[in-house]
Amino acid sequence: MTKELSILILPGDGIGPEIMAQARRVIDWMGENRGLNFTLHEDSVGGAAYDKYGKPLSDEALALAKSVDAVMLGAVGGPKWDGVDYDKRPEAGLLTLRKELELFANLRPAICFEALVEASSLKPELVSGLDIMIVRELTGGVYFGEPRGIETLPNGDRRGVNTQVYTTPEIHRIAHIAFDLAGKRDGRVTSSEKANVMESGLLWREEVTKVAADYPEVALDHMLADSCAMQLVRAPKQFDVIVTDNLFGDLLSDVAAMLTGSLGMLPSASIGVMGGGAMYEPVHGSAPDIAGQGIANPIATILSLAMALRYTFDLGDEAQLIEDAVQDVLGQGMRTADIMQPGKTKVSTSVMGDCILQAMEKLQR
Ligand code: NAD
Repeated sequence: MTKELSILILPGDGIGPEIMAQARRVIDWMGENRGLNFTLHEDSVGGAAYDKYGKPLSDEALALAKSVDAVMLGAVGGPKWDGVDYDKRPEAGLLTLRKELELFANLRPAICFEALVEASSLKPELVSGLDIMIVRELTGGVYFGEPRGIETLPNGDRRGVNTQVYTTPEIHRIAHIAFDLAGKRDGRVTSSEKANVMESGLLWREEVTKVAADYPEVALDHMLADSCAMQLVRAPKQFDVIVTDNLFGDLLSDVAAMLTGSLGMLPSASIGVMGGGAMYEPVHGSAPDIAGQGIANPIATILSLAMALRYTFDLGDEAQLIEDAVQDVLGQGMRTADIMQPGKTKVSTSVMGDCILQAMEKLQR
């Protein structure tokens, strides 16, 4: 019997169940055609879990998430739960997962598919062939640093405080992720901070440089975060892997996302401490405006599955097959409504799933 590959599927809210159903078909196909031994578990998260259990992530679902090799998440949230207490909101389920699984590295690829070059807000020649990876630190920095809060000063003025703080182990572990990735890609890391005005940025720069000594085959350069944002929209193809902190990563990954044109195409991975968990999810939300209509784009979720195969299960060939199938289907002119272009064929969520499975069948040898 081949090694068991365990996945917890959390479809979530809105379009989550629709797009996850298509990713599940790809998992089933992999089991049948590539001899892979998947064990699938499924539970609720977000609003769906709140409706069922009174909280956005049940203890059982959390225990399962900790026990499996990978979690596949659809999306959470929606207007139905807007009035729910802050700690029981759908998003709280997501944050609990990130915290409990210690997911400190967020990997966001920005790939421009040839067939969608025209969808980018940049000129085609700037984005054609684009393939960059943003590695964002996810559990430290100014979003979590202490002291924090809003206080009233003796003179009656109010003051808001957040603290940007990083320790050397936090910087080292995220840098190792970036260098490891670059070693399997184009061999270049750009580290981004504000070392010119922030001590935490200076420490980041010094410590990333130390880690680089372990990777002589990878080239490292440093770029101030404001300059990096500018370069991302001026000449994005100069980058391979960008490693950066939580705050700058939040901004830079969204800038990079828009280079590729559509939210429905963007996967992500969040990786935990060695031997720990990992979670794969599309970058987009639950799209309540189109939920239940069968028109959502499942590609971001299917590409997130490809990331799970590559990074958690070390199945690079299978991941590549999925990515090639997506490329092929787009090349055939198949489009869900969000990426529809004149002269192309508009298809539903499930027909897009059919097309990707057919392309995998065709390309598998
Ligand atoms: P959204 O990403 O859900 O939707 C933004 C726009 O993009 C909408 O017009 C939507 O129809 C479209 N869109 C998104 N994904 C699509 C897909 N796969 N196919 C076709 N079109 C797609 O962002 P929003 O509208 O700001 O948020 C909706 C809900 O999702 C909110 O409750 C928000 O809190 C939540 N949210 C969740 C996550 C997550 O689960 N990780 C991320 C972002 C937002």
